[in-house]
Amino acid sequence: MKYDVVIIGAGPAGLSAAVYARRAGLSVAVLEQNIYGGQIVNTPEVENYPGTGKTTGVELAMALYNQAAETGADILLEGVTEVKLTQDPKVVITTGGEYEAGAVIIANGAKRRHLGCKGEEEFSGRGVSYCATCDGAFFRGKEVSIVGGGNTALEDALFLANNCSKVTLIHRRDQFRGSKILADAVVVKENIEILYDSTVEEVCGGSVVESIRVRNKLSGEEKLLPVSALFVAVGLSPENSLFEGQVELSEAGYIVAGEDCCTSCSGVFVAGDTRTKELRQIVTAAADGAVAATAAARWMDTH
Ligand code: NAP
Repeated sequence: MKYDVVIIGAGPAGLSAAVYARRAGLSVAVLEQNIYGGQIVNTPEVENYPGTGKTTGVELAMALYNQAAETGADILLEGVTEVKLTQDPKVVITTGGEYEAGAVIIANGAKRRHLGCKGEEEFSGRGVSYCATCDGAFFRGKEVSIVGGGNTALEDALFLANNCSKVTLIHRRDQFRGSKILADAVVVKENIEILYDSTVEEVCGGSVVESIRVRNKLSGEEKLLPVSALFVAVGLSPENSLFEGQVELSEAGYIVAGEDCCTSCSGVFVAGDTRTKELRQIVTAAADGAVAATAAARWMDTH
């Protein structure tokens, strides 16, 4: 199959790129390996996307998907296995077939980072979770823990506190990275206890999680915290090994690009969390999608 633009990833960046590319008159395929909407489907509440008011990540994902589909973009649930970006036309090979593209927009987002502590992988899916929205309900009325100090950890702690009897939030520093409004809400929530300057050393249990071993970095003191779950919310990491050697990657593995969303490879653009940028938000991902699609349309005109 041939398309003017192939977009890799159907999160806010990819779906916004699809809308803009279709409005520029280009034929568009959007390829997604997991779930339409990307990371936002794991977000219990979205309060800072302009115009929608308070909504859920799933509702916003559906609205973004429907809007892109209505423009006539082909949105396909296929994982990308190989790309040939340095040639023209470019080729994107997926689990479902092979696509030729004039331009490619990479909008594959980033994955939840793992902690790397003892027992984490062993108990993954048996009390260790990377998605409070998905798994929080399994622990209704129980004591749980969450690790991290960014917006995800703060939002998830508040979400869990509404379902669980007690939430212990463990953060490695004494200041949160997340926004003040969320931090203030967490601090006053009566069933959230915060352990600052602390790290999770080990996840313990039998067939499921029964406790975690937490270490205070300042005193060196360790204690066993009886909890039914550990939610890990320690940030994102990009998965760009597919593109290695074809587009420039930063040391941390992000695709190097400025606000123009142009990569080091001619005809290849990047949008959203997967690129080097200051602020990873839904609104900045959507904005990237618009910029990348407009740049791709301009590139198609001149090549
Ligand atoms: P993040 O902002 O990168 O925060 C990650 C947190 O995990 C940091 O507090 C970090 O500690 C901690 N951390 C990292 N590695 C760790 C480790 N190995 N052990 C213990 N702690 C570790 O990630 P995020 O919260 O997932 O958010 C990702 C992006 O999405 C951010 O740009 C965020 O603002 C955005 N987001 C926005 C909203 C919203 O606006 N409502 C909601 C969710 C996410 P340090 O602080 O010490 O580095």
